[in-house]
Amino acid sequence: MIKAVNLTKVFRTESVETTALNGINLEINQGEFLAIMGPSGCGKSTLLNLLGLLDNPTSGELWFMDQEVSRYTENNRTDLRNGNLGFVFQSFNLIDELTVFENVELPLLYAGVPAKERMTRVNAALDRMQIAHRTEHYPQQLSGGQQQRVAIARAIVTNPQIILADEPTGNLDSVNGSEVMNLLLELNKEGSTVVMVTHSEENARMAGRLIRMMDGNILTESYK
Ligand code: ADP
Ligand code: MG
Repeated sequence: MIKAVNLTKVFRTESVETTALNGINLEINQGEFLAIMGPSGCGKSTLLNLLGLLDNPTSGELWFMDQEVSRYTENNRTDLRNGNLGFVFQSFNLIDELTVFENVELPLLYAGVPAKERMTRVNAALDRMQIAHRTEHYPQQLSGGQQQRVAIARAIVTNPQIILADEPTGNLDSVNGSEVMNLLLELNKEGSTVVMVTHSEENARMAGRLIRMMDGNILTESYK
């Protein structure tokens, strides 16, 4: 489904050059739940952003559903993301000025889905995340756990095949964290491919596969 070959990312600012990814080789199969661990700064988010077509690598190949996408333009990447990829972030990244409903509706607006279908799909996603009773609330009126459930609803509203989650439980207490983890496991059981960066050994153990990164490389890989 996704294949990285010698994937390398170098960030250059005026004075410094940082090799965030140093030749990553990785294959992600449809339906798997992959966890990524490693110390802060080792390149986890950079890898997730490349796999999620948010950015281009400096060198190497990235295959996404049988297309070599490493030199795609921003517009081409956006087209490919729509409907294929859903993102969940540590800091939720909801828009404070929009209601819960409007936040979840956004990806469908971008995709040009008609209003009636948007309504149906947003409500289904909110139901699915057990947050439908908060439809007209604003993010700041919700707890962290509720905000993350809204963020997951937004990620899945387009029925993406792949969900990319960057430390989705990082800002949550253990009860809300395990609830979010269970939701991701359920989505995976229903067929979504999930790639999750986490600092939690406990959550990582629940994944089908775990890779550990260090200094822009994959150190070890293990299967459950
Ligand atoms: P992690 O998610 O594992 O904490 P990151 O992927 O965020 O690590 O970062 C890997 C390295 O790349 C770090 O040294 C970080 O400072 C650097 N880096 C990440 N993004 C940028 C950027 N946009 N510009 C410059 N350096 C960056
Ligand atoms: Mg990170």
